[in-house]
Amino acid sequence: MQYTTDSEEQTRAVGRTLAEHLKAGDILCLIGDLGAGKTTMVKGIAQGLRYNPDKVLSPTFVLMNIYEGRLPLYHFDLYRLETDVEMNLIGLEEFLYGDGVALVEWADRLGSLTPKEYLEISLSHQDDSRRRIRLKAVGPRYKEILKKLSDKKLK
Ligand code: ADP
Ligand code: MG
Repeated sequence: MQYTTDSEEQTRAVGRTLAEHLKAGDILCLIGDLGAGKTTMVKGIAQGLRYNPDKVLSPTFVLMNIYEGRLPLYHFDLYRLETDVEMNLIGLEEFLYGDGVALVEWADRLGSLTPKEYLEISLSHQDDSRRRIRLKAVGPRYKEILKKLSDKKLK
């Protein structure tokens, strides 16, 4: 499934619409270069789950932020992850497989800790304000989400 967006707001709208289908335990892996729109997508999802999107900041000096609300949101950013992924992420798995929605920026760095099932969201630059967003389901739970999403208008 694929979207093309022409503004930050449109990318948030994809996130908001997706958020309606999320539940505790879901894992979303976000992949894409710096500035591709991963954090913007997280803001949209946060907004869809009734959080204040202004509270969403990339966790620059830590690997994860927690936003408390109807469902806890675990926002990982692995950009600054040092080489030994497993060393760094041990303990965080509790949140990755926790009682909330886990959103992982730079999820391609999870290596051997990549979950068995997840929704992959790849963002890529088309030009200054255009982004291509590809959603790929790994596992039945996420196929179900994409099916529901396919006939939804963006909010
Ligand atoms: P990342 O987390 O992938 O590094 P951010 O979401 O922090 O990226 O930043 C994306 C940047 O690109 C923001 O400055 C945003 O305003 C800009 N932008 C321009 N067009 C878009 C678009 N269509 N979707 C998302 N962001 C966009
Ligand atoms: Mg980011």
